Amino acid sequence: MGERTGRSILIAGAGPTGLALALELARRGYRPRLVANAPGPAPINESRALGINARTLTLLEACGATALILAEARRLTEFKISSAGKLLLTIDTEKFRGPYCPIYALPQGQTERLLLQRLSAVGIRPEWSTHLQAVSGDVRNPIVTLLHVNGGAETVLPDVLIGADGAHSAVRKACGFAFPGDAIESRFFLADYRYAQQVDTSFVQMNFLNPGVLGRLPVCEDTLRYVSTIEDFETRIDHPATVLERTWKSDFTISFRHVETMSRGNVFLAGDAAHVHSPAGARGMNLGIEDACWLGWLISEGREQDYSSLRMPVVKTVLKETRRNTTFITLKNPLLTGVRARLMPLLNSIPGFTAAALRNVSGQDTPPPPWIPDAR
Ligand SMILES: Cc1cc2nc3c(=O)[nH]c(=O)nc-3n(C[C@H](O)[C@H](O)[C@H](O)COP(=O)(O)OP(=O)(O)OC[C@H]3O[C@@H](n4cnc5c(N)ncnc54)[C@H](O)[C@@H]3O)c2cc1C
Repeated sequence: MGERTGRSILIAGAGPTGLALALELARRGYRPRLVANAPGPAPINESRALGINARTLTLLEACGATALILAEARRLTEFKISSAGKLLLTIDTEKFRGPYCPIYALPQGQTERLLLQRLSAVGIRPEWSTHLQAVSGDVRNPIVTLLHVNGGAETVLPDVLIGADGAHSAVRKACGFAFPGDAIESRFFLADYRYAQQVDTSFVQMNFLNPGVLGRLPVCEDTLRYVSTIEDFETRIDHPATVLERTWKSDFTISFRHVETMSRGNVFLAGDAAHVHSPAGARGMNLGIEDACWLGWLISEGREQDYSSLRMPVVKTVLKETRRNTTFITLKNPLLTGVRARLMPLLNSIPGFTAAALRNVSGQDTPPPPWIPDAR
């Protein structure tokens, strides 16, 4: 074990971000310790982050996760946008050039299980039900208190501490990172329905109800997710087959927040611990995995102090884009929704529109990973 790979690394959080980081470090000879207060990965019935983009697939090739994801995920070949049932715009994702489709659908719980499968193959298992309770000391020499499920406390002195512990990050709070931002007014409601037979899972549909919006996304061969800004949206669903059961129901408000720096001393933040935003565009989990892969590479290069300056501009750009998309989707003013309905059918005729939209969806609108030759 080299001098650098011998450094002790503690990752708080075993969501997609923490798992991807552990995998990227493990394949470079590190043995990170991974703790999570959850008892295990995301429940299989909670589809949560559904979209896996082409950039993520490129990033996860080397650790072996991409092949597993491609075997289970569904290609999304079309985006359909309509207003009051009238089709306004279709974006054909087959126009995207590259080894992958711009985006695939796979429920987050399954993605996490595939990452865990790869991690187990390299002999690393997250310590579940292990709560990071406090971080004290100087950020250059953090002192971490862990609480185990049996109530026992443990003090850890890692060389490197990574907070991949989600939107309510204990590491972020304990280490004094500010998390400024705001929440938008609209509330979002979602429900996943399982049908008696296979349904068409090749497309995503967004129907503007003026006011409000109803989206349809594939979860798996017989299950669809519906998401809306309207509380009684389930009465508006045009089910494609006989409903067997509603497998998940949830609602959420959307905040746009990010830290001002993603590292202090030897403490680093990644994923939702560092930034939260709307699911419009399916960037959240993908951006967290991207943070993780950049941090893994920078640690292996002994350049982790460059992490924040390299990632902050990307985070700000993605938050700006998702806010713009969310504002566009949630328009309420009848004048503006009327203009939107008139303009949307013209978009495909604007040179470069489809290519730019697909680049955005694929996650390839941020700098490519320098450690992967020919990466887009
Ligand atoms: C309804 C919904 C739909 C979404 N749809 C999409 C989508 O389509 N596409 C997309 O890209 N994103 C989507 N997202 C966002 C996505 O779920 C998150 O961005 C993603 O889970 C973030 O991953 P993470 O690993 O950074 O954090 P998390 O998944 O939140 O994981 C945090 C980890 O930290 C652990 N933890 C927390 N506190 C502590 C502590 N004190 N001590 C120890 N461990 C701790 C938890 O147990 C967990 O293991 C959606 C989110 C929601 C809620």
